[in-house]
Amino acid sequence: MNKTDTIYRSTAMNDQFRVIAADTTNTCQRARDLHDLSPISTILMGRLITAIAMMSTELKDTNSELSLRIDSDQPLRGALTIINGSGDIKGYAFEPKLLIDEPKDNFLPGKFLLPGTLSIIKSYQSRRPYSGHIELISGDLAEDIAYYYQQSEQIPTAVNLGILIDPQARVRAAGGFMIQQMPGADLNLADRIVSNLNATPNVSDLMDMGMDIPAILDRFVLKDVEWKMLDTKEVRYKCNCSKERFAAAMRLLGRAELESMNEGISPVCHYCSTSYVFSQQDIASIIESL
Ligand SMILES: [Zn+2]
Repeated sequence: MNKTDTIYRSTAMNDQFRVIAADTTNTCQRARDLHDLSPISTILMGRLITAIAMMSTELKDTNSELSLRIDSDQPLRGALTIINGSGDIKGYAFEPKLLIDEPKDNFLPGKFLLPGTLSIIKSYQSRRPYSGHIELISGDLAEDIAYYYQQSEQIPTAVNLGILIDPQARVRAAGGFMIQQMPGADLNLADRIVSNLNATPNVSDLMDMGMDIPAILDRFVLKDVEWKMLDTKEVRYKCNCSKERFAAAMRLLGRAELESMNEGISPVCHYCSTSYVFSQQDIASIIESL
């Protein structure tokens, strides 16, 4: 039921450029189904999921995590996505059912997010966590991610994201690619790649026509550029919640708060909509264990 997707890691022109691409169609569709997302929220979540999948290639161990979060006071409000080093992605939209009057505007989340902020948090197993924040510049996320890498990590980066949905918000195709220029790269080559990017049709349209990511890289993005695929990695929508994890979080609430729940409660996971039942007896045994 959790169909996998793929991240592709490659390098161009003797390591002068790092090229990462992703097919995230199944993961985006799973997010849409779990949260019953409206078209505009599907596009927003799809863009975040695709971006975080590509950004996660820097996670070196399974317990490290990367979070990408948009916050805004505008109607779409934002969303959160998290990926771990195993490629498990989860997230939720803050306004999952927002409907836009003008159907064509369903493809432009930025219009309903600006002004807003983008936060990137990296949690490592054995290093201090890192967090970076930028003001959204477009809200459609590709430019914002590129701006983040330039500003916060001094890496010239081009990002392209494409999410194609049908009128019922079913995800027909979702994917993207990200190109990063390494120090000392030949700027004439960078110009060639930029002109390739400008001539590349929308990535999700190409995928919808049946082209896979390696073919899109070869025929458009890296046309006339020497490149090689390094490896691929699977990603999928997967939440790691459990009744035990909820119980552990409830212990932190303290005795008084738990005693006020003594009729029992049924918390619902934000990330996967699973509902857990804590009976009167369950609450009593949590209190006893304090
Ligand atoms: Zn969950």
